[in-house]
Formats: sequence, C-alpha cells, structure tokens
Amino acid sequence: MKLQPSTTVIKNGQLVDGTGRPAVPNAAVIITEGIITYAGPAADAPPAPDARVIDAQGGTIMPGLIEAHIHLTYFNVSELQDLDIKFPVEYVTLQSAVNAKTALECGYTAARSGGCLHNIDVWMNKAIEEDMIPGPRLSTSGREICGAGGLMDWNPDYRRIGMEGIVFIVNGPEQARTAVRKLVKDGIEWVKTYPTGDAASPDINDHHTLCMTFEEMHAVVATAHNHGLKVTGHCRATEGIRNALKAGYDAVEHGTFMDDECLDLLLKRNVPMCPGLGFELFSVQRGKEFGLSQRVLDGHQETLEAGAESCRKVLKAGGTLGLGGDYGFAWTPHGTYAQELTFFVNYVGFSALDTLKCATLGGAKMMGRDKEIGTLEAGKLADVLVVKGDVLKDISILENRDNLLAVMQGGVVKAGTLVKPASF
Ligand SMILES: [Zn+2]
Repeated sequence: MKLQPSTTVIKNGQLVDGTGRPAVPNAAVIITEGIITYAGPAADAPPAPDARVIDAQGGTIMPGLIEAHIHLTYFNVSELQDLDIKFPVEYVTLQSAVNAKTALECGYTAARSGGCLHNIDVWMNKAIEEDMIPGPRLSTSGREICGAGGLMDWNPDYRRIGMEGIVFIVNGPEQARTAVRKLVKDGIEWVKTYPTGDAASPDINDHHTLCMTFEEMHAVVATAHNHGLKVTGHCRATEGIRNALKAGYDAVEHGTFMDDECLDLLLKRNVPMCPGLGFELFSVQRGKEFGLSQRVLDGHQETLEAGAESCRKVLKAGGTLGLGGDYGFAWTPHGTYAQELTFFVNYVGFSALDTLKCATLGGAKMMGRDKEIGTLEAGKLADVLVVKGDVLKDISILENRDNLLAVMQGGVVKAGTLVKPASF
C-alpha cells in the first residue's frame, strides 16, 4: 500500500489516540511520508512549513477503525443456507470487492477476517495491498473447519450439495490436519474453526453444543502453528471456550458463556477475544421480519445477555477485546459496522473511550499489528479518521459516513467528504 510522499498536518480538533488515554483538546497530528511523526497538543507541535493542512473543523482526530471479525464474502445472508455456494466464485469476488470498498468508506482502515468463501481473502488482500482496489488492510482467513454433523454441516447428505467452497467437514484429528494443510497452501493467516454451535441452529447445534472434539482442535493447532498460521474459533458453550484455550488457540470469537476458569486461561495466555455481540441484539430486534423462529430469537437473547456479561468481565480484568463481527446478514448489512460501537456504549455499558480503544488498538492487537497501526502515536502508519463532531459525547456519529471528513491509510486520504468525487 502506497504512503503519502509529503507532510500533512491535521489540526483544529481533539485527539482521541486509541490508547484509552483521555482526549487531548486542540491537538495536531503531523504525518511525514505516511508515518505519524507527532500526535499531541497543537501548542507543542514542531513547525511543519509547506505541509498540506487538513482542518478537523473542531471535531475529532482518531485512529482508523478496525473490524475485528469481518466476512467480506457475506452478502445479505438471511439464513445459514444462504451461505451455500449460490453464486460462482467470480460473482462472490465482486461482492467482496464492493464490501471492502464500503468498509473503507465507513472508516474501517483495517479488518481481520472471520472466515471467507473459496480463497477470496488472500486475493482480496493482494489487490488491496497493491492499491488495485480500495479496502481495509486485511488479516486473512479462508475456508472454515467444522466437525461432521456440526453447525456448518447443515445440508442432509441426500441433497448432495458440495460444501467445498465454504467449509472442511472433518471427522477426527487426521482429517482436521488434512484441512489445515490445504489452508497452508492457500496462503491464509487465520484458521477459523467451529468448536461450538450457535443459536441460529436451535435443534441440533445450538449455543450449548460442541461441534468439534478436543483432539480435532488440538490437531488443527499443532498443524497450523507448525506452519506459522494462527487459529481461532466460534466459541459459545463454556466447554468449547475451555477446549479452545487449552488446545492453544490464538484468539476466541464470541466467548459467550465464559466461566472463571476460562477467563483465567484467557488472561494467562493473553488471548484476544472478538465478541461480535451486536449481531445478537440486532437479530432479536429484527429477526422476525426475516422469518427467524421464536426459538432462534430466544437463543439470541440468551447469548446476548451472557455475551455482554463476558465482555464486561474481560474488560474489567484487563483482557484484549476487538470489536465488530458478522456484518453482512440481511439485518446487519455491510456498511453498518459502527453500530457495534454504539451498542457497546448503550447496551453493554462500556465508556466511549474504552469502546474506541477496543475498536482500534484492540483490533490491531488481534491482527498482531499493534506496533504498526491501532493508535495515533509517533512511528505508526498514518491510518487516521478525521470526524466532524465529538465522538466521546456521541459515538453514534461514526455510524454516518457523512460525518467522516477524511479516512486516511498511510497518510493518503482514501475516503471522506473532503475527497472530491472522481470524474468519469
Ligand atoms: Zn463470523
């Protein structure tokens, strides 16, 4: 990804730097060759003659947001079967490119994948890094892994629907190893697995059901780590979280029914977690419109309440949380990601400052890139949002992309109202 080859000063706004420190009023951020060289009070800023100036209009200067669990290949999914291979890889790739552009325009300068169809993430990442298409810096995943009969194995055998583009259905550690070896060749970063079920599948694979054995999970980790890949998993049931942490997982998705033993393991091994929790509330609120049954809605309500409690426990204990998750369903379409932040303030009870820290530095930690991105500090890549208004007073202003004056990656303004529309 190209860096801006000159100096830029952003001024006339408060600085919320993503570290969780209180805002600095009347701040300045100086960027040289795409790297932040100063972020702090404007009065102490070194002179920067001939710099390009961006006026924050009395608003907020903050790090680019990071979606910690994105599915670029999801497009208006309303039931699990919508994830079957309905479209060829060519069309799903186009949908993903549109989603990547949308994410960047919404202020998400980086994202970590929670799984994708085919091997689209890897190629999407290459196209974004080479500035061929706009999109967030991407931490890639690929086809997912689930035990036979588990959450992702929803098609009865007589339908003979090939699931090869979505998921590896495995029976036993040997098949789990085989699946990981295919992913190694695909070139992905994160192996996404399904240790547990979900409220979406109430009859046979609900949120208290296990979908992989410990032995399968351990085989995934040993093979992935041998090749330098990281492992994560969809973990709702307590035993699934515990198995993941004991098997050596590098991250936990959801972490819904987190007991004290799991919390201890999470903290001891410093494993980050992405709750992806807003989805539960939005499913409860809007699921009926999309035909979700009462049993599914009740399950989402139960995971919502338990998940909120887990998040409060992890935050209080000083663990790492990334925000985002599972946007791309019909009732949580791509482009609505920032409602996750409003939800964490209004429903879960996080402060705006903590929420923003999770949505920036937390995501960068989950990606393993917190030395490069996630905060506005000297030496980091200039992935910056310039926002019209005070995000600490009203975090929901981030939901409206008209409030984004500038979305910068490596100091280059890629989106925001300051960018003139391209002429064709
Ligand atoms: Zn997901």
